[in-house]
Amino acid sequence: MNAINYEKIKYHIEYGKVNNLYIHIKNGEVIVKAPRFITKKYIDKIVEQKRNWILKKLEESKNKPEEREYTKTDIENLKTKLEYIFPELIKQTNLVPNKIRIRNIKYAWGSCSSNKNITINLKLVDKSEEEIKYVVLHELCHLKYMNHSDKFWNLVEKYMPNYKEIRKQLKYNR
Ligand SMILES: [Zn+2]
Repeated sequence: MNAINYEKIKYHIEYGKVNNLYIHIKNGEVIVKAPRFITKKYIDKIVEQKRNWILKKLEESKNKPEEREYTKTDIENLKTKLEYIFPELIKQTNLVPNKIRIRNIKYAWGSCSSNKNITINLKLVDKSEEEIKYVVLHELCHLKYMNHSDKFWNLVEKYMPNYKEIRKQLKYNR
């Protein structure tokens, strides 16, 4: 094995209200989230145990673009936009959600739960108004159809005839 592999892995500790140790890679750095009572020695031990996994992830992260950091301002900006997009579309469609939340989620632009709660992805703050409108409309239509049936898409189309283009733009992978 290469000698370089035996160098101790450098990492940052973020102490917080967690019950376990979590290791992840962010912008090419190893971040360990740990409960306050855990010792540095114990973290060292776990990090070394996970050495192969960490090295693999570090290698993978080199090929990925840096993750954008989201701030409170981003949340406020998106909130401001949603504060007029939602009422407008609710008025048009008569579909009323229970709660609306903004979250930084990974795999979707938005989601709608069976409790009629809609979550909008914070990442939309960088998208055009039309794209945000499409996601909001998409989730509102899920209040009526909890699936992607023809009926669902017809409803989306009714309120946004060019939705297919926008959907493509967004690479809405669902
Ligand atoms: Zn959907």
